[in-house]
Amino acid sequence: MHLPTIIMLALAINLVVGLYLFLLYQRKPKDRCFKLWSYSCGCFVLGSALVVLRPYPIPHFFSFFIADCLLLLAPVYVLAGLAKFSRFRYTPKRRRQALTMLALVMASFLLSYQHAGLLSILLALSIAVIFCYCAYLLQKSIITEPTFTRTLQGVFVLHALVMCVQATLIVVNWQQLNIHGLPETSIYTLLSHILLTTLTALLLPWLSFLKLERKLTLKSQRDGLTRLANREHFFDQLERYWQQYPSTPAVFMMIDIDFFKKVNDTFGHAVGDQAIVSVARLLSKQLRSNDIIGRIGGEEYAALLINLDEQTGFKVGQRLCQQVAEQLQYIAGAQVGLTISIGMVHLIPAQHDSIAAFKLADEALYASKKAGRNTVTLATFKTST
Ligand code: GH3
Ligand code: MG
Ligand code: MG
Repeated sequence: MHLPTIIMLALAINLVVGLYLFLLYQRKPKDRCFKLWSYSCGCFVLGSALVVLRPYPIPHFFSFFIADCLLLLAPVYVLAGLAKFSRFRYTPKRRRQALTMLALVMASFLLSYQHAGLLSILLALSIAVIFCYCAYLLQKSIITEPTFTRTLQGVFVLHALVMCVQATLIVVNWQQLNIHGLPETSIYTLLSHILLTTLTALLLPWLSFLKLERKLTLKSQRDGLTRLANREHFFDQLERYWQQYPSTPAVFMMIDIDFFKKVNDTFGHAVGDQAIVSVARLLSKQLRSNDIIGRIGGEEYAALLINLDEQTGFKVGQRLCQQVAEQLQYIAGAQVGLTISIGMVHLIPAQHDSIAAFKLADEALYASKKAGRNTVTLATFKTST
């Protein structure tokens, strides 16, 4: 194993990955994480290049202080890029706190850069803390692909451990430190640090591709007008419920806007669209977050109200009719006087088929229409299967 060759190879890979990330950023400027990660690679390459120059007669300020600041910024930029994937709220206050912390660490570098050993300990511990934070951010990531996130998390934790071991080795061998403030025994931790940095640079772009995949998946599952689940996704979710909660009772509801054609004909399609959105919003607001709601047709919605008895389900249906009639009298300034009709059926997945439930609720909806609209009809299964 020829160390200079490995270092040169790692630096070359980081340089190429950095350039690749920057090109990705130029193609997709909205994804600022690419820019931040390309900066991370750049800082690592520049910092390492300055470290390599240490034996030559250049001011220590550059080869130690600036070099270590750059090596510190490499994981900082990784962290900043990861924050874009996290549910972590990046408030101005937190931003100020993070910048203050960074300034304090750099100030400690400035005070200690004449003492190579002390500087190496500070750098190793700072990097360890930042990578622990990276692993924590991944825990809160919007990307839920388990294999990838766990691998990257593992890399971060391992990297933090390697840096802690490096700091420990420096303390233990305090009397025999080389020009870099490192003992000869730390060669493997140093090597691991370089390789793990390179591995991180290679893994990070995947996060963005997974984010894009997630965005496209979400888009294909949602109805463009109301953002509710579309027909296909609604029935997929229904199927999953049937498999996962066979014995939990639920209420299946079919909901349809009354005389909607007249709304379109009288007030125009723009008001019609607005009415469809308003009903969707009201349903989302009135039902619980774990209920399954979808827009399954033009002005038709379906909902599965989970873990509910028949009587409560009926009351919820009546409340929905009442709320629409009260709250959606006016749409975009036009007196539309919107009402809805509902057909519903109470079921237990293990005993009742989802298609049969859908059919019964639809028949009940038709009965509500016949009964004069703005009403709820409850259907019941004749025989259990
Ligand atoms: P009923 O009370 O019996 O349900 O009568 P209705 O007029 O609501 O029912 P019908 O099925 O006759 O009309 C539904 C209308 O919904 C017809 C269609 O033009 C309109 N529609 C379907 N999708 C959309 C949409 O996305 N936007 C708008 N503005 N109208 C839509
Ligand atoms: Mg209708
Ligand atoms: Mg209809």
